[in-house]
Amino acid sequence: MNYVSTRNNEVKVSSAFAIAHGISVEGGLYVPETIPALSYQEFLTLGELDYKGKAEYILKKYLTDFTDNEISRCVNGAYTASFDNEIPAPIAQLGENVNILELWHGPTCAFKDLALQLLPYLLTTSTKKVADGKKTVILVATSGDTGKAALEGFKNVENTEIIVFYPSEGVSPMQKLQMDSQKGNNVHVCAIKGNFDDAQSGVKKIFTDTEIKKYLAQNGMEFSSANSINWGRLVPQIIYYISAYCDMLAKGDDLENGFNIVVPTGNFGNILAAYYAKEMGVPVNKLICASNANRVLTDFINTGIYDRNRDFYTTMSPSMDILISSNLERMLYILADGDDKYVSQLQNSLAKDGKFTVNDKVLNKMQNLFYGACCDDNGTLKTIKKTFEEYGYLCDTHTAVAVNAYEQYLASTGDNRPVLIASTASPYKFAKSVLSALSNNIPDSEFETVDVLSCLTNTSVPKPLAELKNATARFKDIYDKNDMYKAVCKCLKID
Ligand SMILES: *Cc1c(COP(=O)(O)O)cnc(C)c1O
Repeated sequence: MNYVSTRNNEVKVSSAFAIAHGISVEGGLYVPETIPALSYQEFLTLGELDYKGKAEYILKKYLTDFTDNEISRCVNGAYTASFDNEIPAPIAQLGENVNILELWHGPTCAFKDLALQLLPYLLTTSTKKVADGKKTVILVATSGDTGKAALEGFKNVENTEIIVFYPSEGVSPMQKLQMDSQKGNNVHVCAIKGNFDDAQSGVKKIFTDTEIKKYLAQNGMEFSSANSINWGRLVPQIIYYISAYCDMLAKGDDLENGFNIVVPTGNFGNILAAYYAKEMGVPVNKLICASNANRVLTDFINTGIYDRNRDFYTTMSPSMDILISSNLERMLYILADGDDKYVSQLQNSLAKDGKFTVNDKVLNKMQNLFYGACCDDNGTLKTIKKTFEEYGYLCDTHTAVAVNAYEQYLASTGDNRPVLIASTASPYKFAKSVLSALSNNIPDSEFETVDVLSCLTNTSVPKPLAELKNATARFKDIYDKNDMYKAVCKCLKID
């Protein structure tokens, strides 16, 4: 299977090349040339396998330049001991038709673990195939979840260093402690004085600076990215939608007319994986794209106009506080039937004017596939409370946005076929906001808040978060936002 760039489909590369390089030279994203389809019988057979077995089967369809042995090594490394649950992505149920796909049983308690536990294995295998033995340096700018998940995934990975930058005032106390206490002999964590955009543009600048690249190469190193634009982060996410379909079949859900999927969306990676699962043969009816107050995708799905020129809101679902959904580019490429010129034109206009409008053909196709809905913090809190009171189920702020969007969909369409709602984080990662939905008494300290939430809801605190109570911070450096390159050299001991 070859991968082509969304902005020039004459560029054709192997999966190892796509994963090792992350992004194509002209700025496009790699997409598989075709999407492999599975028969109903194959899904039944897959249902007999455990998560790792399913993962191997699906990865083999996409990573055709990997040997069976290599794929098996990657999967066993990623999904053997790092999840608190026998099944990495179990389903909980709210009433008869509503399934919650819990994607937060990994080491950092957010869904990014499902991909970032596997990516380091895919990346090291890929670089061995296509690069020249240089040491890989992963740079990450994070607003919280990605940084920690990448650190956990890449810690102690051979021939790799990982450096994470986060805004010193821009992450939750839990997220800060998670990162500052990170273990591993190849991990580096730097807080910067600035916001997430400063961290992000600082990393981009270092990435694209040819002098810096040269200097790194002289020292036997090269940069790579753990960002969600990397195909190696997207393909692991297809697995859990297929696994969920197998589980729904096994428990006897009525899937005669298909089912709907709801995804709380930021960068459009997770919902794009659900789309791939649909194309592979999972009988998905509608993909419901849920946004918070940063409703740029809701407006796009409803009008065909993507416009990032608007106020940015800092919400209680921070991992969805995003105005440029980078993976949407892949969806546009598919909707435009692989018209790379058209995609380039849209992306250029996004870069230049902050907006673009799609043609009627693309808009119609998109509206057939997707339904967009959004809710603000107020709606998020109400949904957490209602879901807990009605079903005894505690959801985090991001998941609540999805539940709220589903309720809007149900009310406006009456379509009550079975639904799968992606639950992307443990409620304990955002304990203050979640507790404030249920109570007026919020303790000052993060761990007291966690304890009160646990007592009040009779749910248990995930072990990786509970253990942080006794963790000590290893990383204490705070850098000026203009000193990020200095920080990189210091971390790599090449200053
Ligand atoms: C990253 C993240 C999202 C958004 O996922 P995308 O793939 O970027 O759309 C939603 N919820 C949580 C908790 C996240 O960490």
